[in-house]
Amino acid sequence: MPFTRRTFLLGAGTGMSLLVLAACTGPEPEPTLTPVPPTPRESVPEPSQLWRSNWTKDPLSRGAVSYLPVGSNPEDRAALRSRLDDRVFFAGEATSEAPGTVRGAAQSGARAAREVMDAMADQDRVAIIGAGAAGAEAARTLTARGIDVIVIEARDRVGGRIDSREDDGVFFELGAWKLAVDADDSVIADVDAVPLEGAVTVPVSEGLVTATLADVDAAHQGMSAQLSTWAVEQSTADIDIETGLSDSGLAATDTTVGDIPAQTVVLSFVEAARIATGANPTDISTWFPPTAIGEPSAIPTGQLSSVVSGSLGDVPLALSTAVTAVAYDDDGVSLRLSTGESRSVDRVIVTVPLGVLKAGAIEFDPPLPLPMRSAIDAVGFGQVEVVRVAFDDPFWDTDAAVWSLVGGDAEIATWINLVPLTGEAVLLGIAGGDGAAALTELGDDALSQMVRRLLAPFVAQT
Ligand SMILES: Cc1cc2nc3c(=O)[nH]c(=O)nc-3n(C[C@H](O)[C@H](O)[C@H](O)COP(=O)(O)OP(=O)(O)OC[C@H]3O[C@@H](n4cnc5c(N)ncnc54)[C@H](O)[C@@H]3O)c2cc1C
Repeated sequence: MPFTRRTFLLGAGTGMSLLVLAACTGPEPEPTLTPVPPTPRESVPEPSQLWRSNWTKDPLSRGAVSYLPVGSNPEDRAALRSRLDDRVFFAGEATSEAPGTVRGAAQSGARAAREVMDAMADQDRVAIIGAGAAGAEAARTLTARGIDVIVIEARDRVGGRIDSREDDGVFFELGAWKLAVDADDSVIADVDAVPLEGAVTVPVSEGLVTATLADVDAAHQGMSAQLSTWAVEQSTADIDIETGLSDSGLAATDTTVGDIPAQTVVLSFVEAARIATGANPTDISTWFPPTAIGEPSAIPTGQLSSVVSGSLGDVPLALSTAVTAVAYDDDGVSLRLSTGESRSVDRVIVTVPLGVLKAGAIEFDPPLPLPMRSAIDAVGFGQVEVVRVAFDDPFWDTDAAVWSLVGGDAEIATWINLVPLTGEAVLLGIAGGDGAAALTELGDDALSQMVRRLLAPFVAQT
């Protein structure tokens, strides 16, 4: 991956890549980036079950979360929430102040509902396209005022990028997998969740080294703040976070966190940005980096999609019905549906993912205004995939909640160990950017082999 290679090259003369060099196997260290340091004495057992997401290829998402690439800015997000002739309104995480989150999506739905209420006349009928967190919150806000609403959803389920599954009475998530925790320690969604806390562990040549998650999060927050402060002070144009870390000197920090070496902390910051945006560090803006890095969070143990179905209540809902065209004029809005029917309403809130808008899967008549089309093009839509791997028994003996495989080419570099959190012998792998893209090309057997290769450093040493 570019950052690693660049760091390696940059560090060759400065001592920056000690960890990477130390991680090489064999008596004569080769200049390789292979991330797996200690040779495990036993191999990783076959998983008993493996579940995976595939948001990248999902035609109703076409990616995972929005982010601001180099050259874009928050005004592009503002343009995504344009209202068209007070007939067509837009919501969804990409339009929000907290992009890439369930919380942001829901807030955007409430905001769009308020805009509709400002514009509407009594007796207006409102359609909402999409039954994710944004659509559900918009529906809840409008129906609370007694407004006539219908929600139209292309999938045969509600939740969108909240994809709750159940196995033997245990709920788990293949979309949004963690939730922000408020200052008062409550989770921002009415669902059971366990705090994501404990230690982070990283493999190095001597074995595993650790630091507390709170310390690593604080280091990431500090790095993010310093990087964007440095970047906006430069008189030149915006640059990507990989270049920014190198040019600012932050990549050469010598501050360790717990036992985790300084350069590994830098690489884990890059990994946090990668899984928050689904983008590679060479694409992410330094001026407008993701905001949620290092936030306290919790892992849902209840059914997260119940938050969406709870907000929808008994609002009329058309499932398995895609909207293919939106035509609007002074008289109202006409929606063409995949069922061959059309439906007339007075206002519509469009909450489909940015990837769907980028693909032009909904035809607008008149076409979307140029600033909006330009914003759809400018705002990035990254790739994140979740892999949940269950084992008959844990083969690891670390009780660290987060495992980080940074410093190499690991396709899935972040692992959540559920043993200390819920007691299950389950690991949750999160891949972003190129790593996520690589996963989508693999069959289940090849993915299982990859998982076993990546987890080798964590096999309990006897
Ligand atoms: C892998 C992954 C990991 C994530 N991790 C986190 C996390 O840890 N924490 C967090 O807070 N957030 C996370 N997110 C982000 C979070 O899931 C989203 O921000 C949020 O769920 C988006 O809600 P939304 O309503 O904007 O969009 P969606 O949930 O995508 O809802 C839009 C709906 O529109 C429907 N639709 C699409 N096209 C049409 C059409 N033509 N006609 C009708 N309906 C249509 C879709 O099927 C979908 O149901 C993650 C997302 C992914 C994919």
